Amino acid sequence: MKVLVCGGAGYIGSHMVRRLSRDGIEPVVFDNLSTGHREAVGDAPFVQGDLLERDDLRALFAQYRFDAVMHFCARSLVGESMTQPYAYYENNVAGTLNLLQAMHEAGVGKLVFSSTAAVFGVPESDLIDESHPRQPINPYGASKLMVERILEDAGRAYGLRSVALRYFNAAGASPQGDIGESHEPETHLIPNMLRAATGKGPSLKVFGNDYATPDGTCVRDYVHVDDLADAHSRALAFMATHEGAHAFNLGNGSGFSVLEMIRAASDVVGSEIPYDLAPRRAGDPDRLVASSAKAQRELGWAPRYTDVAEIVETAWRWHRQPRY
Ligand code: UDP
Repeated sequence: MKVLVCGGAGYIGSHMVRRLSRDGIEPVVFDNLSTGHREAVGDAPFVQGDLLERDDLRALFAQYRFDAVMHFCARSLVGESMTQPYAYYENNVAGTLNLLQAMHEAGVGKLVFSSTAAVFGVPESDLIDESHPRQPINPYGASKLMVERILEDAGRAYGLRSVALRYFNAAGASPQGDIGESHEPETHLIPNMLRAATGKGPSLKVFGNDYATPDGTCVRDYVHVDDLADAHSRALAFMATHEGAHAFNLGNGSGFSVLEMIRAASDVVGSEIPYDLAPRRAGDPDRLVASSAKAQRELGWAPRYTDVAEIVETAWRWHRQPRY
């Protein structure tokens, strides 16, 4: 079996590539290397190209016969999406449409799509399940929701089978420590904490301590990147027996505040994480915690990393000696 991994040089995509290879499935990576890293791909076949270039896609689908596609390419920063909405809609929506059309022309009928908790907007309940209203409050979430809608239409019109996986906060790294999260500039909490710990980054800024949470800092649901990869493998199997478009929320089901994460990281690292209080970051809801009951029920998925310290520990193995 051969699976096209769009964005396979990125953080989550590279962990997926490794998982597919381990399962005896042949990944082919397509990535424009705008934020990904060639070194993260390992030995898998690699094609450099861009979803916005239809000729790149034509050549790719002419070269290989794929059984399915996993699509991780996206711009994914909420704040940036507020100031560069055209770039987000172009890359995330128009780029995905090009991919879907290329799949259609090549007769490839299965897609696992990276979606996000940001499709829900301001949470109306403590645990967000799939019945929660989808009312994104930023272009990033809106772009992902548009694709979810396109997938529903494509299922009806063309028989496309798809699974949208809505990640909450992807975290951690391969326990081998040789692939991990590496963005420039880095905006995410765990890498920023660990960079502050190694002295490679500035003191951490805690964005806001006046949220409606027990300690005033934002609460998030951190789910290990290998658990996300496991959900993709299960989604691939699920599509063999399920037609149409499906969506699942993926999280650990428990929330941790920024200050709790700093304490967990200090324990893992063995020293205090230097931090300063800073103003709120635009677009951050107080609390985002998933109910993954549907994924557990229908995909048989359950996160293996339920201890946040263990998640941070795997990230720390990477951040002590990042290879790229
Ligand atoms: N955060 C922070 N300092 C940072 C990065 C993030 O206080 O340097 C906070 C952020 O405001 C949010 C949480 O940590 O409440 C997780 O943010 P991240 O960017 O990692 O993920 P997001 O929730 O935006 O997907």
